[in-house]
Amino acid sequence: MTSPAQPDILFAAEDLRAQVTTIFSAIGSDAPEAALVTDHLVLANLFGHDSHGISLIPLYVRMVREGKVEPNQRPTAAMDNGALLTLDGHRGFGQAVAHEAMEIGIARARERGVAIIALRNSHHVGRIGHYAEQCCRAGLVSMHYVNVVGTAPVVAPFAGIKSRLHTNPVAIGVPREGADPLVLDFATSRAAQGKIRVAMNRGVPVPPGFLLDADGEPTTDARVVYDEPVGTMLPFGEHKGSGLGLLCDVLAGALTGGRMCHPGSSGDDVYLNNMLSVMIDPDRLGGRETWQQEIALGTQFFTSSPARDPAMPILLPGEPERATRARRDAEGIPVDATTWRLIRAAAAGVGVALPEAGWR
Ligand code: NAD
Repeated sequence: MTSPAQPDILFAAEDLRAQVTTIFSAIGSDAPEAALVTDHLVLANLFGHDSHGISLIPLYVRMVREGKVEPNQRPTAAMDNGALLTLDGHRGFGQAVAHEAMEIGIARARERGVAIIALRNSHHVGRIGHYAEQCCRAGLVSMHYVNVVGTAPVVAPFAGIKSRLHTNPVAIGVPREGADPLVLDFATSRAAQGKIRVAMNRGVPVPPGFLLDADGEPTTDARVVYDEPVGTMLPFGEHKGSGLGLLCDVLAGALTGGRMCHPGSSGDDVYLNNMLSVMIDPDRLGGRETWQQEIALGTQFFTSSPARDPAMPILLPGEPERATRARRDAEGIPVDATTWRLIRAAAAGVGVALPEAGWR
């Protein structure tokens, strides 16, 4: 994306955390929940996914004030078959509910070698790679399939011009010995919807090939996703991304006992996620030495290809996020002026006064 119309404001992650926590405390989250949601959002910013960082605060505050998200919910078992567990998130903050769901799954996968956690009816769970990373830290391989219900769809199927899907993300995490984990984490649309919102807030065009306007014509104007007459986002990878998006809807929506995207599940004006997570203890499949050795050889071979463009080195999944984190830890997190103004307004609405500018 090109440069924003107004200069960004820079924040140190620690300072941002301190400010953001006060907003979640003010809307009723207890201290552990406020910390979980805050850490998740600020880490998303540190990793460069501003769409899933603090820019979500105005939405979250509105959802709580309208009674559509309930602070301090805990996941409860709807069906328990040992290695297969279905949890209801009771429309609680997804970052807290899904964190606990993963902890339960991790304990079961350690005990049994595998766990399948079907989390339904959670509010927005945020950046899905966060849960793959949580599983990696516990030494587990994991796959996460997510769908969205409660709001109107925003992504057209391949060859279509009207929205019939959401941005249904997928994440896969693989721990590595002596190296950072492999974490692949993406929306099945060309970009996460929040990136279109961030582009709109920054007043910059979206790259070509991401959007269609209301007449089905290509556009780079982010407003078509938010303003009437609405257009649509496109899936990544043509028929492949479109098919994967639909299968995320099936796996996360239908299989968990939640809902898929259709007119009967889209009209509540609340952003709910369902997530099917498969966790595997890899030592109980191929044997630790073999699989770690193969990953080392395979990833080395993968990255040994000469680059077509020296400015674009061959990276492993998860590397771009870690590089952005190193930079933002050192230089600060940039927040565009519109996003910060909207966050300040949301905070003021719940009695929290945030400073006008950043502090570094
Ligand atoms: P993206 O297009 O930036 O892709 C990110 C993935 O691609 C990461 O795994 C990253 O490591 C890898 N990657 C990026 N550049 C690379 C390169 N040059 N070489 C190798 N690998 C590279 O992400 P996105 O699709 O815009 O999604 C952004 C975030 O939005 C994700 O964290 C996703 O989970 C989240 N999301 C959440 C929801 C929800 O409902 N909760 C919905 C959609 C997306």
